Amino acid sequence: MTVRIDEEKVFRLINEKKPRGIVVNAPGGLIRQTRNLMERIEAQYGIPCYLIGDSCFGICDTVDDEVTKLDADLALHIGHNAVPEEIGEFTHLIDAKDDIKFDAIIDRSIEVFRPYRRLGLATFSQHLDELGPAKRQLEAAGFEVHLGRENNLLFQSQTFGCDFSTIYPMSKEVDAFCYLGGSEFHAVGVALATGKPTYLLDPYLEEVRDMKEEAEIRRKRSILGVYKALDARVFGVVTGLKEGQKMLGRTKWISKRLEMNGRKVVQLAMRDVTPANLAPYRDIEAFVQTACPRISIDGFTFDRPVLSIPQADALVRLMEGREIGEFLERPKWIELTTGLIPKSR
Ligand code: SF4
Repeated sequence: MTVRIDEEKVFRLINEKKPRGIVVNAPGGLIRQTRNLMERIEAQYGIPCYLIGDSCFGICDTVDDEVTKLDADLALHIGHNAVPEEIGEFTHLIDAKDDIKFDAIIDRSIEVFRPYRRLGLATFSQHLDELGPAKRQLEAAGFEVHLGRENNLLFQSQTFGCDFSTIYPMSKEVDAFCYLGGSEFHAVGVALATGKPTYLLDPYLEEVRDMKEEAEIRRKRSILGVYKALDARVFGVVTGLKEGQKMLGRTKWISKRLEMNGRKVVQLAMRDVTPANLAPYRDIEAFVQTACPRISIDGFTFDRPVLSIPQADALVRLMEGREIGEFLERPKWIELTTGLIPKSR
């Protein structure tokens, strides 16, 4: 299998815009191809390309603000294909697509799916082109197959780690979800957000994996974190500084609710919410972070509760005497700001 960056678009943009410098960022798995591309750009055009070395996990990690700091005038955010092609003043999304095929693993999955009649299909950026063939193959095997609806950020049946808004509305119309790709991270998210049986069809390991156990571990830990935080008197509310995670509205709402319920709030802001970055604040008994929800839901290494936005909502419900509810079952765990409101040019 090969993941191919849309280089044609990159060179077309450079020819059109004639930038004096380019800022680039990409997820870890695409760094080798990205560096190779940068070397060719520098050799062909004689302009500097800066690879931003900070973490790049998702579409929330665009680096539009870095363009001005580095005296550049174009940013390429590689590998998180999405509906908006441009973000902010300078950033263009550059697709990367995997050419691996799913026909063999779908064949293998047919028996696993036999107890179900109606299937929902989902995948992440790199396999979007495989949805059509997968749907046809499963339909030929006798299943009723549903695709999620495209919206202003995500393509048909595409999910991010925190955004399931394309497929969530069809949760009641399907018996199980079939997730294309090798990413447990994404498939577990679908299982948690929809509450439906979800199977990962991994074409690299040639395995069909039920996400039930992994989802249940995260669901229970998320609930436990909420109950532990209920006893805390001093909260750190952490606002994420990444471009696509500007959740100031949520920060203010949660801070106010905590204070109304007698808790002290310390406001913090940081780019990466890690155990090391939270370690110095020993007087704080629990944190709420309004950045990436997966830091909390998948983060097993914090020494105190660190709640995501859905968990914080559940905490507020408990503080106010209401039921905790299935707080992870919702179409989005945060409202990504990336790409929703492009700046005027
Ligand atoms: S905020 Fe969403 S898009 Fe960004 S890294 Fe987390 S899960 Fe991925």
